[in-house]
Amino acid sequence: MAPNESAAAVFLDRDGTLMREVNYCADPRAVEIFPGVPEALQRLRAKGYRLIVISNQAGIGRGYFTEAQYRLVEAEVARAVLPATFDAVYFCADRPDLATDRRKPAPGMVLEAQRDHDLDLARCFFIGDKAIDIECGRNAGVRTILVRTGYGARESHAAPNWMAEDLSAAAEIILGLHE
Ligand SMILES: [Mg+2]
Repeated sequence: MAPNESAAAVFLDRDGTLMREVNYCADPRAVEIFPGVPEALQRLRAKGYRLIVISNQAGIGRGYFTEAQYRLVEAEVARAVLPATFDAVYFCADRPDLATDRRKPAPGMVLEAQRDHDLDLARCFFIGDKAIDIECGRNAGVRTILVRTGYGARESHAAPNWMAEDLSAAAEIILGLHE
């Protein structure tokens, strides 16, 4: 990256994309990272991408679990993807019925990350398993990849830029654009 050039990032949904979908995961012991995820993240990082998690966590707003419990899960996800590391994790605790401009599909968290990390959104990607991830990416002006893990197999109506079997395949799509 040339000096003064804005960075590029891959925005990552968490549940159903990095790890097996667990309904309202509140227990670090329930974290199960998909095979190949740490390696795929490492490859993206080696290409210069910032890795930024963008996650709706309405379970907090609904009172199903506390932010402290969420933080334990977040820490376990970070541990489980080692040696890959995230540059940042953004989450939104809003209940869907009280959603602000942060809860996906709104682009608020992505735009926050853009400001915090001086990102060039035209060179960024959003990888997720739900239509709201694809809509969030589109709303923020970034290219999108729908993975078939999690809910992804039934979300193809979301019209992503690409579809991929899983996060590893999504990373290959991004890396392939550099060849
Ligand atoms: Mg998801």
